[in-house]
Amino acid sequence: MNAPLIDIDNISFEYEQTKALENISLAVEEGDFLAILGPNGSGKSTLLKIMLGLIKPTKGEIRLFGVDAKNFKKREWIGYVSQKSNSFNSGFPATVEEVVAGGLVKKTGLFRRLPKTAKANVKEALEAVGMEAFLDNRMNELSGGQQQRVFIARALVAQPKVLILDEPTVGIDHRNVQSFYNMLASLNRDKDITLVLVTHDVDTVTDRITHVACLNQTIHFHGFKNQLHTMSDEQREAWYGHSVRK
Ligand code: ADP
Ligand code: MG
Repeated sequence: MNAPLIDIDNISFEYEQTKALENISLAVEEGDFLAILGPNGSGKSTLLKIMLGLIKPTKGEIRLFGVDAKNFKKREWIGYVSQKSNSFNSGFPATVEEVVAGGLVKKTGLFRRLPKTAKANVKEALEAVGMEAFLDNRMNELSGGQQQRVFIARALVAQPKVLILDEPTVGIDHRNVQSFYNMLASLNRDKDITLVLVTHDVDTVTDRITHVACLNQTIHFHGFKNQLHTMSDEQREAWYGHSVRK
């Protein structure tokens, strides 16, 4: 079997005053759609930042694609859409194409005019999130849900293998949340993108995800590596009403 794409082994993290994570272990394997749940302040965003290498754990080991995170060079394989990415100031004048093309900069360097191949990549990324019709729109003409899809396209344009999303449905009209998760599920199934998602949408998300982990403030982590394998069917049903394994 291949190594997990993200393998977190007994990590802890402390901000100056706050213990944010304590002894967390978690593995994300190719093809997973993992939802991370937990109350506010339980360390969800911190855990994602550790997966991304944005912050270093105080204790513990991380392997990315089988390589010690310290030596991992393929950062573009892991895409990220941060919390509140779509809380836009309405004056923002960039077009959808410009925002998505910004996701290529890491790979290609800055460009004055968008090269042809980049245009094709931008179009493909927008198609994957159902936003190809909005290429020339300005961001401030879009709804919160549409803006979030554009930010996902921006992450996808660099062709990551894993996409990490922090509370992506905040700011999306509740009537559009179902179709938003359908779009994510199709990225996972049809485009083979491994997904890691922080969310509070427990009811909506359970139909689409393959795995769930729950961070809890008092016991900090309610689970272990490949957590679903450690839960009985009865436990799973008690938590979620039905099985969360596809
Ligand atoms: P969640 O995303 O689950 O709401 P966070 O990972 O953002 O939780 O935060 C976990 C804990 O760490 C919280 O107590 C929060 O107040 C604290 N924290 C988060 N970011 C910082 C920071 N930059 N400096 C100090 N404390 C922080
Ligand atoms: Mg958070």
